[in-house]
Amino acid sequence: MCIFCKIVKDEIPANKVHENDDFLAFHDVNPKAPIHILVIPKNHIEKFQNATPELMAKITPFIQEVARILELDQRGYRLIVNNGEDGGQEVMHLHFHMLGGTKLLWPQLAPDENKKYL
Ligand code: AMP
Repeated sequence: MCIFCKIVKDEIPANKVHENDDFLAFHDVNPKAPIHILVIPKNHIEKFQNATPELMAKITPFIQEVARILELDQRGYRLIVNNGEDGGQEVMHLHFHMLGGTKLLWPQLAPDENKKYL
């Protein structure tokens, strides 16, 4: 079973923020911003490429609710989905990163790629 499925089943601990029947939001264990939340479907879906329109329709208001709970809705936040190998996905259970709590830099590129795009 994957690590996020174990979190869903309470087999390993997580600092949970919000959940409903379909989704769970919890703090990332290795935060890349002052607030770094992961939002996952409770059912195991490997990656964004496998997400359905129905899932996307349901997860949108859930993410918006998490933003309100954490008072990120007014100041803003960034959503990131790392999809597959080139996308840098390490945990193969679909997750949306919510980053906030500061004004984030943009663009975010790998250091050796910066010159190419600046
Ligand atoms: P990704 O590279 O998009 O697959 O991101 C995986 C994220 O999961 C990383 O930001 C990790 O810090 C985070 N992570 C891995 N294991 C855990 C865990 N047990 N609890 C919370 N976050 C985790």
